[in-house]
Amino acid sequence: MTVTQPPHHGGQAEATSPPWAALPGAGAIAVSFEFFPPATAAGTTNLDVCVDLLTPLEPSFMSVTYGARGTDQGRTASTLRHLGERTDVPLAGHITCVGATRGEVQAVLDSYVEAGITRIVALRGDPPEGQTDGSVEGGYRSASDLVAGIRARADGARFDVSVAAYPEVHPRATSPQADLDSLKAKVDAGADRLITQFFYDNERFLRFRDQVESAGITVPLVPGIMPVLNFARVASFAARCGAVVPSWLGANLATLDDQPIVQPLVAAALAAAQCRDLAAHGVREFHFYTMNRAELPVAACHLLGVMPRTPSAIEGHHP
Ligand SMILES: Cc1cc2nc3c(=O)[nH]c(=O)nc-3n(C[C@H](O)[C@H](O)[C@H](O)COP(=O)(O)OP(=O)(O)OC[C@H]3O[C@@H](n4cnc5c(N)ncnc54)[C@H](O)[C@@H]3O)c2cc1C
Repeated sequence: MTVTQPPHHGGQAEATSPPWAALPGAGAIAVSFEFFPPATAAGTTNLDVCVDLLTPLEPSFMSVTYGARGTDQGRTASTLRHLGERTDVPLAGHITCVGATRGEVQAVLDSYVEAGITRIVALRGDPPEGQTDGSVEGGYRSASDLVAGIRARADGARFDVSVAAYPEVHPRATSPQADLDSLKAKVDAGADRLITQFFYDNERFLRFRDQVESAGITVPLVPGIMPVLNFARVASFAARCGAVVPSWLGANLATLDDQPIVQPLVAAALAAAQCRDLAAHGVREFHFYTMNRAELPVAACHLLGVMPRTPSAIEGHHP
């Protein structure tokens, strides 16, 4: 135990470290945050509060998702323009290629460039319900095709391109090796960064990191962290995207969904523990799926040592 002051309370020494392992290794921790485009005025106000709380953490970027099924595609660009007026944090637009022609995808990229956005999260997207493929004649067939299509633009070198990675294998992949090959194809096509699907079993992420390295992929692999706002919803989402929900997560959170005061306290502690364990294994970048709520990401970041330079910046916000 580290002691910096002489004993003064009945001979008791004061511990100066918190009761968990210090983060080993050097290097600042970088974070990014993901939002979905709000559909209502109230949703926009909520997102504004969220962005105001997260901006002081000086994230590397904030990204806005894109509805592969067409529901909110226009809202991504308008949300990016709105956020550009609210925050100085670099912004990234997600884009999917399923169900769209190359021309349509390029037109969306043009609209991002016009809004000053050259950071892209490039995805295939899920085919519409009932379809197995979703590609259209003359469209990009996969995310690697899409990345190549971004790089082939006259301004293609300007883009910073992130792509998706799946520590627990994409549910539609024919095999883990095929999934890894598809990941390598995205990097070979010009991706700058891999952001993973959310997961709760760190061991699986660390094994995946080894496989990615063995495949000769050298771009950064950034874990996607989804703090649990509601256990039932997360469990259902995880079942759809093939993420394992460890029994300890259920044991801690399954009974708290109707306890709005205790639930976020426990969820924040678990998200922080997950991040700190990853940091102890050398991870230095984290991408948070915020679900347009800032409290849990702020708490997890705080316990990772990522906090506003002026603490008062987060006072007075009550989302
Ligand atoms: C960080 C992140 C952000 C995301 N953002 C969005 C978003 O904004 N909007 C959105 O709609 N979705 C989003 N997604 C979900 C993503 O679109 C789906 O997971 C999609 O199914 C695969 O996209 P991809 O870019 O990984 O595809 P790819 O890299 O092309 O494929 C990934 C793997 O899935 C397999 N695969 C994919 N589709 C099929 C298919 N139809 N048949 C057989 N195999 C298939 C491939 O063979 C490969 O193994 C995101 C996912 C992540 C991890």
